[in-house]
Amino acid sequence: MRPEILYPLFADVVTLGGVGEKARKLLCNLLGGSRIIDLLWHLPTGIIDRAYMPKLNEAVPGRICTLRVQVVEHMAPRNKRQPYRVIVADETGQAELIFFKVYADSIQKNLPVGAWRIISGKLESFNGNKQMAHPDFILKPEQFAEDMKKETVYPLTAGITNRMLNKFMPQALAKVPGLPEWLNGEFLRQQDWPGFKDALKAVHHPQQEIDLQPWTPARCRLAYDELLANQLALGIVRQKVKKQSGRTLCGDGRLRQKVLQTLPFQLTDAQQKVLREIYADQASPFRMLRLLQGDVGSGKTIVALLAMLNAVECGAQAAMMAPTEILAKQHLETIAPLLEPLGLRAELLTGRIKGKNREKILTSLENGEISIVVGTHALFQENVVFHDLALAVVDEQHRFGVHQRLGLSEKGNRADVLVMTATPIPRTLVLTAYGDMEYSKIDRVPEGRQPTDTRVAPLEKTADVIRGLKRKLADGARAYWVCPLVEESEKLDLAAAEERFAGLQKVFGDKVGLIHGKMKEKDKDAVMERFKKGELSLLVATTVIEVGVNVPEATIMIVEHAERFGLAQLHQLRGRIKRGCAPSVCLLLYASPLSETGKERLNIMKHSEDGFEIAEKDLELRGGGEILGTRQSGFTMFRLADMSVHKNLLHIANQDAKMILETDPELKSARGQALRVLLYLFEKDDSVKTYKA
Ligand code: ADP
Ligand code: MG
Repeated sequence: MRPEILYPLFADVVTLGGVGEKARKLLCNLLGGSRIIDLLWHLPTGIIDRAYMPKLNEAVPGRICTLRVQVVEHMAPRNKRQPYRVIVADETGQAELIFFKVYADSIQKNLPVGAWRIISGKLESFNGNKQMAHPDFILKPEQFAEDMKKETVYPLTAGITNRMLNKFMPQALAKVPGLPEWLNGEFLRQQDWPGFKDALKAVHHPQQEIDLQPWTPARCRLAYDELLANQLALGIVRQKVKKQSGRTLCGDGRLRQKVLQTLPFQLTDAQQKVLREIYADQASPFRMLRLLQGDVGSGKTIVALLAMLNAVECGAQAAMMAPTEILAKQHLETIAPLLEPLGLRAELLTGRIKGKNREKILTSLENGEISIVVGTHALFQENVVFHDLALAVVDEQHRFGVHQRLGLSEKGNRADVLVMTATPIPRTLVLTAYGDMEYSKIDRVPEGRQPTDTRVAPLEKTADVIRGLKRKLADGARAYWVCPLVEESEKLDLAAAEERFAGLQKVFGDKVGLIHGKMKEKDKDAVMERFKKGELSLLVATTVIEVGVNVPEATIMIVEHAERFGLAQLHQLRGRIKRGCAPSVCLLLYASPLSETGKERLNIMKHSEDGFEIAEKDLELRGGGEILGTRQSGFTMFRLADMSVHKNLLHIANQDAKMILETDPELKSARGQALRVLLYLFEKDDSVKTYKA
């Protein structure tokens, strides 16, 4: 349970003065949550200095001025297009306040003739007159307070003004309780950082521009807190897994030998290297928790299969979990034919397999007749019982969380876990997402693959592209046509894809199919099947195909609005046409004009086929958050830490967390207790809970 001391921070923002239902909703959109803590994590990006309080005759146009003036006269507009104007003056001169599209009532109420007011905003000069359009505030002199001379600027959304946030934030800050210090005292002194509460206060009260920089002591402190919570939570989960001793799996190699003999290729050095690492883990008495990273097409599936066979040779079972049904089925299709000659049974288990069929599979899993099962998250439902699960392979493409991953391994008898990922993840991000998981990388793709010919062209060329495609398809080629990603909205994605599909149908008739995320699995499968068989030669798709479909005959890929995709995503997509040995062509169509960065990004795609290089360059060009295709990637997004600035803090936090768990694994010491509060503060509740288990 969350400690009581944190309750005020997790209270809803409606409890703050001035926040009603409407504001609450808007805040929720802006902050991604409607609790006080969400508000406090919303960091300012600027300050407005309102301390410049000149007399009107001295006021310099172009600056933010705070003026003490008397209302002289109202000039109502003669038609709708004209603004409402109010003349104001002080002892030295006069100025005009300009309002477009506002109710005359409210202006008359706020600015009665003869009254003195403090107004603040940007002063402009127009035809030699001083004007201020829509002042930022209009106050009675007694309402004006010293601290209004510095206004903190926050990222906003329609309906939420800076003034509002400046009113809410002090109230939220007032709710921050004094919390026990969770950082090491000496470290804190060394860094010269403030305590948590003071840091929050400082961050929300910047005095000058430099206070907004991410490397100020206050910002570093908060970033470090967030990173430490992240590393500690991962460390706790890992510790839990590691504590359960593993089992020694050391098969005699007979099954693996046979499979290797039937393969039409030799394992690459890179595959052999990671297999040695995996086998060593399996042989050790500790549980394996290993991340297997390899670019698209680097041959992870066969590596996973061999690891699974090692377990089977020992009389145990292995499971492989994929993020989607299509993928699970594909894995099975790859694996099953290799297992058949060995007399081994592999089965598919997804949510869609129901009734008798499912019963049969469940029974065979429980009595051990099935050696290898491939499936979706249905695999770790409660009623799935294994006879003796020794290895769980998770092909994740970033769709599972840490806890889900471990969920499957808990079904086993001290089962090993091997997580596979195809997205090239820079080392820093590996650390934030997986902690200190062991890490293997297949760093070379098999030889003999032809490079893809990647071309970049403006969307205006679409008609030419279709003409060219017509020739290629007539020659028997198969192609993907990927439709643009529209602001993470599936609905709009779909509309775009459907429109393109309709257009292409006019040209290609029944040779073209459509596949998208909203379709039923059954229908998706049917379309995929027809494309595989060659009944369809052109497949229009939203990004659903990104997650690893395998049609070796497909050699052409056209991506519409390529500029909207993350490079990692484009790289994944392009990987779809490199399954076989035939030369492939990838055409990236962009909307002009393309920004400088946009040009550079597409150029990287043109010149590199190395997923790691592409990922690193993308990181340089766009910064950390976006690299993996944003939120859906399941990667930890930090609210206070900025990976391009606080990378070194991540490494310190990683060491810190390790030390903490070595010396105080149960978080029982005084500092340990404080660290529990930290974990709850950053909502790592799950990891604290593992202590009770
Ligand atoms: P991914 O890492 O993307 O999952 P796969 O395991 O699906 O890659 O392998 C991609 C293709 O490469 C498959 O058709 C597979 O049979 C083939 N392959 C795997 N290993 C090798 C190898 N050593 N030499 C040649 N082809 C290989
Ligand atoms: Mg694969």
